[in-house]
Amino acid sequence: MPQRFQNFIDGRWQDPKSEKWFDRENPATGETLGTFPDSGRNDVGDAVAAAVKAQAEWQRTPAPHRGEILFRAAEMMVARKEELSREVTTEMGKVLKEARGDVQEAIDMTYYMAGEGRRQFGHVVPSELPDKFAMAVRQPHGVVAAITPWNFPLAIPSWKLMPALVAGNTVVFKPSPYSPLSAYNIVRILEEVGLAPGVVNLVFGEDDTGAALVEDPRVGMVSFTGSMEVGREIAAYCGRHGKRVHLEMGGKNAIIVLDDADVELALEGAVWSAFGTTGQRCTAASRLIVQRGLMAEFSDRLMARASTLRLGNGLDDSVEMGPVVNQPQLQKVESYVGIGVEEGATIACGGSRLKDGELAKGYFFPPTVFADVKPKMRIAQEEIFGPVTDLIACASLEEAVAVNNDVPYGLVTSIYTRDVTKAFKAMEGITTGIVYVNAGTIGAEVHLPFGGTKGTGNGHREAGIAALDSYSEWKTVYVDYSGRLQKAQIDR
Ligand code: NAD
Repeated sequence: MPQRFQNFIDGRWQDPKSEKWFDRENPATGETLGTFPDSGRNDVGDAVAAAVKAQAEWQRTPAPHRGEILFRAAEMMVARKEELSREVTTEMGKVLKEARGDVQEAIDMTYYMAGEGRRQFGHVVPSELPDKFAMAVRQPHGVVAAITPWNFPLAIPSWKLMPALVAGNTVVFKPSPYSPLSAYNIVRILEEVGLAPGVVNLVFGEDDTGAALVEDPRVGMVSFTGSMEVGREIAAYCGRHGKRVHLEMGGKNAIIVLDDADVELALEGAVWSAFGTTGQRCTAASRLIVQRGLMAEFSDRLMARASTLRLGNGLDDSVEMGPVVNQPQLQKVESYVGIGVEEGATIACGGSRLKDGELAKGYFFPPTVFADVKPKMRIAQEEIFGPVTDLIACASLEEAVAVNNDVPYGLVTSIYTRDVTKAFKAMEGITTGIVYVNAGTIGAEVHLPFGGTKGTGNGHREAGIAALDSYSEWKTVYVDYSGRLQKAQIDR
């Protein structure tokens, strides 16, 4: 019998009042991993009430002490890294090596935010008046709703929970129904290291559960990572209700390869960035913009590598690419391949799901490369979120940058060149939130801001100090010790 999981509300694991449940399967084998609550509005309401009740006390807990609890959570993740990683692989399919990276990112973020407990710097500046003290300090929003996707089951929740907590917020966490096991694991760890009841609450569920959470008037801030379509719906609701909202959404990221590039390095970066996590990363390279002089060599060598990547269950060490996460995602990839063909692009390798042998039980789609892609085709503009990448030819650096920027998203760009002038010109002209020079589109580190422009975000950033700006607001405090009425701007 698969294990039955419960929600975590006010420090207690409990069945959902909705009395509804859903199953999650292993996308590589089809086997059921567990049964999870499909929470309703009552469950969400209880979780928010618990978070409201716990918030004042948590905010009064000195930030360094809040940080110490996170430090202990990071230590526990280190001790359980292998077990956590295997569960990431079994629930969403990424290969074990990458799952370990997912867990390591959560560890890094948790240690980093633990340190921020002693480093929530504000501003102290001279006042324009005598005998007056002027400063700005951070204050939490209150209750934060954390709504997450499935592609980084442990890392993304840690990007939200850890800065929200260290800043003094309490949290209601609604993970993706496709990665509930890791959500359970991270909350279990926070419980075990002694977080007080109500400080973090976990409600499992589908999209309606997320909507109920967004709409609860007691939630002060919504932090969402997921698709642009859902993010914009949430933003519209929050806009109408004056609610704080932080969005991290999709990408249509490109690698630019100039004629003078180190081809071997660029190829390695392209294969890793296009097909790592089966292309299901917001940072995946789904466009390869290659200068004409190098196109023939680059595309031949790319296809040779892509078509020999070994597919299978990510728990097998020799496997290089796992399955797509679920049936709808597989259908989405198939439909975009059809769209690409209709638009006149050529399938250079891959292109149809694996239907024979052991792998037929899972959602396996091979690495797929489209050649002859024009920048305005739908496959070059819309996020596919699967192992599909496009080869787009360009004449110059200027054209490559223009093509790169001309998409609805703005997360990551990378450029391969040996010419430092071109690298700096690209850095200046590229409009995405993240730029890599001579590295693929994957590889963000937790102590720098992460996020994107245009359809990728709404101006906030995850990670780094920027995360604290999302999870707190500035409170400016003036202390006048002159003993008389002083008037700013008037007494001069
Ligand atoms: P999704 O938008 O379908 O769902 C994300 C989360 O939102 C899930 O928990 C879902 O249940 C919930 N949800 C759905 N509808 C909702 C609603 N109306 N109100 C409230 N919550 C709702 O996305 P997904 O398929 O889980 O994830 C893939 C997407 O996430 C891709 O577009 C990818 O690019 C993006 N992503 C972005 C980043 C980033 O940092 N920019 C990182 C990872 C993934």
